Amino acid sequence: MKKIISFILILIVLLIGCSNKEKDNNNIQYSKTEEIIGTVISGTIYGENSKEALCEAFERAEYIEKIMSVKIQDSEISNLNNTAFNNEVKVSNELFYVLEKAMYYSKLTEGAFDFTIGGLIDLWAIGTENAKVPKHEEIINLLELDNYKNIQINSENKTVKFLKDTVKIDLGAIAKGYVADEMKKVICEKYNIHSGILNLGGNVIAIGKKNNNSLWKVGICNPINNSYVIATLESSDETVVTSGNYERYFIENGMKYHHILDPNTGYPANSGLISTTIVTESSIDADALSTATYVLGLDKSKELVESIDNVEGVFITEDMVIDMTSGINNRIKVIQNDT
Ligand code: AMP
Ligand code: MG
Repeated sequence: MKKIISFILILIVLLIGCSNKEKDNNNIQYSKTEEIIGTVISGTIYGENSKEALCEAFERAEYIEKIMSVKIQDSEISNLNNTAFNNEVKVSNELFYVLEKAMYYSKLTEGAFDFTIGGLIDLWAIGTENAKVPKHEEIINLLELDNYKNIQINSENKTVKFLKDTVKIDLGAIAKGYVADEMKKVICEKYNIHSGILNLGGNVIAIGKKNNNSLWKVGICNPINNSYVIATLESSDETVVTSGNYERYFIENGMKYHHILDPNTGYPANSGLISTTIVTESSIDADALSTATYVLGLDKSKELVESIDNVEGVFITEDMVIDMTSGINNRIKVIQNDT
């Protein structure tokens, strides 16, 4: 419930100035919200055929969910997880694209982002009713076995092979970004609509400008009270993706256990950061980097993000210090609130 309320609040911030529902042909607006791929997806777009465009974008999201969700028993990723040990399995173009990106970011971040820790993610079961602190030995056993180096990706044949039978892929840190990019593609490329906003539970894509020609205002949640926004930035044709310790977690014996795991320790990442936001053009890249930077901590993250062209980051430490890369300093407006 709390999540839904905060989601609605953030949406209100996002959509400031967008309540005008004129229906003339040059100014048609359509909005839609649905839960897909484990997250609430919400969108508002402006332009002729906006209803058809947004509905088709949602259909595309559902199509990708059936490929990439490990929660769906007969999804392509579930089948791959069940059959790829010692066996080269041919995968769809969509899945191959995401797996190649996932491998790229696993290597780039030396395993801070690791798409092969599905076993560890299942063990913690954070975000489900079975969430619990596992036995230390169980964590250690999985740590010794699994990492991205145990997967072979063959670019020529678009095949994937696991070198260990315990490997399990989980695309939870990257698939939402891909879905966001693909939804945008349907809206902009197929329907030629260039005004709108999509929010996939913290992955925001700003398409063009608002219908009154002003920039979109995107909020970054206050990580210690995510009913509030702690900073805003004005945005157009870019994505703003946040990973935070408030998204999925449980509390046991007064300790908070959140859903972003450090593949080095097997425990929820404890890098000193509690929120990481990446701002760039493509949401799949932003999604991978927001998770990776959460694990890497402030210094390494700033260094990494500064080294990549056209990517910026906003990082919030557990002491509530807001730090950011040089290219975004003058765009972030910090909001004082009493939390
Ligand atoms: P995000 O909200 O994008 O940061 O992604 C978090 C989700 O990605 C979790 O719910 C897990 O499914 C998965 N995940 C957790 N830790 C990692 C990690 N270090 N690398 C890759 N995926 C992860
Ligand atoms: Mg992510």
